[in-house]
Amino acid sequence: MKLLEKFREVAELRRGLGEIDPTSVVVEGLNSATEGIVNGRPTILAGTNNYLGLTFDEQGIAAGRAALSEAGTGTTGSRMANGTYAGHRALEAELADFYGYPSAVVFSTGYAANLGSLAALLGPDDAVLLDADAHASLFDGCRLCPAKVFTFRHNDPASLDRRLGRLGEQAGRTLVVIEGLYGVLGDRAPIAEIVEIKARHGACLFVDEAHSFGVLGEKGLGLAEEAGVLDDVDFIMGTFSKSLGTTGGFCVSRHEELALFPYRSRPYMFTASPSPAVVECTRSALRAIRTRPELRARLWRNATRLREGLTQLGLQVGDTPSPVLAIRLGDRAGALAAWNGMLREGVYVNLMLPPAAPAGSSLLRMSVSAAHTDAQIDEIVRVTRRVVVESPELT
Ligand code: PMP
Repeated sequence: MKLLEKFREVAELRRGLGEIDPTSVVVEGLNSATEGIVNGRPTILAGTNNYLGLTFDEQGIAAGRAALSEAGTGTTGSRMANGTYAGHRALEAELADFYGYPSAVVFSTGYAANLGSLAALLGPDDAVLLDADAHASLFDGCRLCPAKVFTFRHNDPASLDRRLGRLGEQAGRTLVVIEGLYGVLGDRAPIAEIVEIKARHGACLFVDEAHSFGVLGEKGLGLAEEAGVLDDVDFIMGTFSKSLGTTGGFCVSRHEELALFPYRSRPYMFTASPSPAVVECTRSALRAIRTRPELRARLWRNATRLREGLTQLGLQVGDTPSPVLAIRLGDRAGALAAWNGMLREGVYVNLMLPPAAPAGSSLLRMSVSAAHTDAQIDEIVRVTRRVVVESPELT
């Protein structure tokens, strides 16, 4: 059948992934937030987004269990029909309160939060200017919109300034879209400069804080808080699937119009809402972020330990401290071999190949959790030395 011919190429690509296919890893069991069983052996999880280690938090598990008993396994409907429970509303109120903004909207995933927010914001007369390394969900969100879509060079304020300048009058109807902490390389957006530029051109700014919520800022609100620009950013999106340890997503804003997003957002309207257990686990994790700053302190302590360990091996892991560290490797085959070698030695990291990795590079992405022990971090460094550094053909 002609329709299925395209899968020949996919099958070919998959065969090329070799011995153990990195796209088909199965976590067969979990011993903790930072240790799983993979291919039958205990494996340190160094490639998750479990920044605060909350997936096994006792209070969260108890809250989820209670919600399962009291409200059942799922809502079986969308937010706009039967799927808004008191818990969804309470979570929205708590998120808005945390930011000090008038309202928040909860979506079923972070992916849906980006699609749904961009779909709500962008009409046929508008334009959107995305950082070229922005997450796929931000690009996909733009596809849902009739707006004109442009990109600017990653983390390059001068490029953004030029593009907005070229848009002329339209700059006043343009949404600039960036991430806070970028999830692949772990670098931060130059948000203060971007805020100044967008304000000068009369544009709006949307910040995806998926990797920075719970991680950056004194309260854990993200890069906008850390940089002191919370009053200047127009929309902030976050996900529950990283520091909060569940699934779902949200958008918050200082603009009252956010409360009307649901009426212009198909990804909000046409999908089932998060289950009551997910909502209560998320509310519990949010309380943990608000009341247990020691989790964030522990995350940064661990991030520093891993960074120092890798730097001492002579590896380049980005310019600024970050819980996400990327090791660039020579080519695709080398990156695959290194990824396989680390897994065989009991350390799971993320393999990023083009086009998922920026600038056509192949890299190993590592991420730190507050729940990693010192011994686990030292083991990640030891395995990296054996597999990556002592195999010079890989770097
Ligand atoms: N934005 C960014 C920057 C992400 O990295 C991700 C997920 N990796 C998402 C959005 C989507 O979030 P979720 O996986 O919770 O749907």
